Amino acid sequence: MAFDTTGMMKAEIHCHIEGAAPPELSLRQARKYGVDVSTILRDGKYVWSDFAEFIVCYDAVASLFRTEADYALLTETYLTELAAINTIYSEIIVSPDHGDRTGLGADAYLAGICDGIFAAREKTGIEARIIVTGERHFGVDRVVGAAEYAMRAKNPLVTGFNMAGEERMGKVADYARAFDIARDAGLGLTIHAGEVCGAFSVADALDIIKPSRIGHGVRAIEDAALVERLATDGTVLEVCPGSNIALNVYPDFQAHPLRRLKEAGVRVTISSDDPPFFSTSLAREYDIAASDMGFAREEIDAMTRTSLEAAFVDEDTRNRLLTRFDAHVQSGAKAAVKDA
Ligand SMILES: [Zn+2]
Repeated sequence: MAFDTTGMMKAEIHCHIEGAAPPELSLRQARKYGVDVSTILRDGKYVWSDFAEFIVCYDAVASLFRTEADYALLTETYLTELAAINTIYSEIIVSPDHGDRTGLGADAYLAGICDGIFAAREKTGIEARIIVTGERHFGVDRVVGAAEYAMRAKNPLVTGFNMAGEERMGKVADYARAFDIARDAGLGLTIHAGEVCGAFSVADALDIIKPSRIGHGVRAIEDAALVERLATDGTVLEVCPGSNIALNVYPDFQAHPLRRLKEAGVRVTISSDDPPFFSTSLAREYDIAASDMGFAREEIDAMTRTSLEAAFVDEDTRNRLLTRFDAHVQSGAKAAVKDA
């Protein structure tokens, strides 16, 4: 490893709550509900080999969280894990639609996640916000429904709206109304694009949705003019390198475009997406940036700072987070000078 990233202060702005379920917790849940998970969980790891199997595995894990208390436990467990590696801020992507589909109900689903956030904040000081997501492959009405739900919820922890799911379904324009509703409700906007689909999907998102952030967006690298546009507009990319390698968007970390995007002036950040499914964690993503991708400590700190600058929070909270972050970085720099 190039240098130890353990003590670095971290932030994450792209992680799906069910995708963050630690395998040990899923195993406990499976025992609690008498569910056989031997086909999807072995030796403390989730097992899948291609995208179709990943979806099956993901859904099976998600189905182990059935009550408000289960979601509180899941959220508290993940955020506590993040706080233990010096993470001060986290945005989690949630799908109220999923709560409805499992019979739990969107309100109880959201209430459980909020309880988990409060409990983790109380214990560790970690700040967290919720991004409601519509799932593209369930169709336009469901995505619009998710935006309407986020608007109606008027929950101070719900600060953003996203669209995830199968990128190849429909055109971005079909879903524009959902984003209009979310924008009018004062929510921050981000959208999954440029992961499965090429640069055109990022351009479509910019033209039609005008989000401040893009989930992944890495395949923008295939179009030089688009990269320039991202840099000029200051659009932030929520980059999840481990996820991209696990899903074969790129063959290895050396081929991953994070460095090229950063050097072209694009505002990039690091997140973990669905960490245990991709044999990763936010801690590992920071290690990968330092070792496999060769970023300097200052460059990684700059990406963390970008996450805080782009976070969907009120300005008081942002200033508090930035002050805390800058003080940590400065004290690290002073210590390094003293050691030298
Ligand atoms: Zn994602």
